[in-house]
Amino acid sequence: METGLKLGYIWGIPISLHLSWFLIFALLTWSLSTGYFPTEYPQLAGITHVVLGVVTSILFFASVLAHELGHAYLALRNKIPVKSITLFIFGGVAQIGQEPQSPGVEFRIAIAGPLVSLGLAVLFGATFLLDQAIPYLAAPSLYLMRINLILALFNMIPGFPLDGGRVLRAIVWRFTNSFQRATQIASLSGQAVAFGFIGLGIFTIFSGQFFNGVWLIFIGWFLQNAAASTHAQANIQQHLRGIKVGQVMSRNCARVGSLIPISTLVEERVLTGGERCFFVADNGKLEGMLTLKDISKVPQPSWRFTTTRQAMVPANRLVSVTPDTELMTALQTMDNADVAQIPVIVEGELVGVLSREQIVRYLRSRAELGI
Ligand SMILES: [Zn+2]
Repeated sequence: METGLKLGYIWGIPISLHLSWFLIFALLTWSLSTGYFPTEYPQLAGITHVVLGVVTSILFFASVLAHELGHAYLALRNKIPVKSITLFIFGGVAQIGQEPQSPGVEFRIAIAGPLVSLGLAVLFGATFLLDQAIPYLAAPSLYLMRINLILALFNMIPGFPLDGGRVLRAIVWRFTNSFQRATQIASLSGQAVAFGFIGLGIFTIFSGQFFNGVWLIFIGWFLQNAAASTHAQANIQQHLRGIKVGQVMSRNCARVGSLIPISTLVEERVLTGGERCFFVADNGKLEGMLTLKDISKVPQPSWRFTTTRQAMVPANRLVSVTPDTELMTALQTMDNADVAQIPVIVEGELVGVLSREQIVRYLRSRAELGI
């Protein structure tokens, strides 16, 4: 979801179009202008069909955006940040910044989108009833009513990552009191739904509708990927539960003094020793942290005149955890700060370091031991 065209901001949320969106916009406009409108209005000129096609397509995608804004509005109201809204080939996606804190919040955020779509279907349906006699308005509003209704119903299919899957997760969560358990069940049901789409797609191809079949398989494949990665994530969370940073961290981390030239460090410890991360400490007191990323920011000719202190990230700007921090929380802290290792500190004293590699190794060892 990185490559795209930024449209602007709504409620501070960046709205963008993914490259794949242009393909689906073109396909929909083409199918409306050459199929739907010529059949509905054979008396109108070809160019009018194209104009109607473009306008209806735009209104459709505005409807998808409204659906996503429905999710976003409820998220923001519950103090959950929304990172972005992107329209792409399969519709829209609102990137919610963190998991909801309770099943009730999850339920409301999930249901808001389909409710907006349902509301729009009613609105376009009412418009259709009022403007049946006006040719330019009747067919577009009928089409938009149908497609918003489909959008609401399709999204309510109870398989993660569809909205219905989130509703299912909220309900299971409410009754089992376990977010992980609920996520596992909702993502399993999502995978079942995904295989259902793929199966239906294959059947559709054999019944002669090649394009529709391929499309269904495509949707199924997309849902399967999303559901499977959510499932894997829930499994990891399940395994990390109750484990503290102190059980995983490394206690003997590389320490260096604060006045060593970078050139010496690179020659003797990075290139020769293969070390990648250093704690800068004088007399046991942590002054800062230095990684290869920080070193690479200093131009190489100045390495001889730059000390570790000058290149490091100072301790007061470092995010850190304690040995009692839950591993899950530590992982999230590392994610938010976009770092691969994090110092473990107790009352200003450096007691260890936690890296992503260590967490992976820890999980692998446990898996091999069967615990
Ligand atoms: Zn939705």
